[in-house]
Amino acid sequence: MNPILKKSIDLIQNRIRETAHLCGRDTNEIQLIAVTKKIQPELIREAIGCGLITFGESYIQESREKIASISDSSISWHFIGHLQSNKAKYAVKLFNLIHTVDSIKLACELNRQAQKINKVQDILLQVNVGMESSKSGVSPDDVLDLAIAIGSLSNLKVKGLMTIPPVYNSPEMVAPYFQNLRKLQDIIRNEKIPNIDMKELSMGMTGDFEVAIREGATMIRIGTAIFGERG
Ligand SMILES: *Cc1c(COP(=O)(O)O)cnc(C)c1O
Repeated sequence: MNPILKKSIDLIQNRIRETAHLCGRDTNEIQLIAVTKKIQPELIREAIGCGLITFGESYIQESREKIASISDSSISWHFIGHLQSNKAKYAVKLFNLIHTVDSIKLACELNRQAQKINKVQDILLQVNVGMESSKSGVSPDDVLDLAIAIGSLSNLKVKGLMTIPPVYNSPEMVAPYFQNLRKLQDIIRNEKIPNIDMKELSMGMTGDFEVAIREGATMIRIGTAIFGERG
């Protein structure tokens, strides 16, 4: 048992519980995804020993090696980085959930690769709520059309939306972006598109996860607060 890691994880879990309590939400509807990009397998194994079960990776090459070396079927891996179509075949083999689908081209390739291995791949649609040119994600105006188009791909299952808001010094500044993601979730949900489930909202990181929980996050992606600064 790594006592420093254990303490960080306990602290985060307490903050999640407290925030959920303050806004009248059930802690069980908020999933903690431990972000392990640039974190060595040894430390990830220790995090598993502390009870964490869901991990997020950002780079295909790095995650292929790590997931193989950790080789633990009781945990679940999520892909949270930018995904290129030519890496789709690895992504469907490695990940239980892909958070970052933002184009029909990528969706079609994931569908094709998932079909090859007889899998229905769970995905989220990444929305660029801040309309930043530096960030991936479909624009808020186009997300409904993307959802409708993906609804007809039989080897993909849309579970919800994901976003990375613009960076601000104060976490309160990002609240409107989280609120916008939630509004988009409602809009898409009201369309009742076959094969589209809008249960999940993946939003919130180390600096702003409490705001995200308040605004309805069901998945928060936390790296630094668990593992420390990445080297
Ligand atoms: C790195 C990363 C995180 C974790 O960020 P921290 O600030 O270290 O908690 C969350 N989401 C995505 C998409 C990331 O790339």
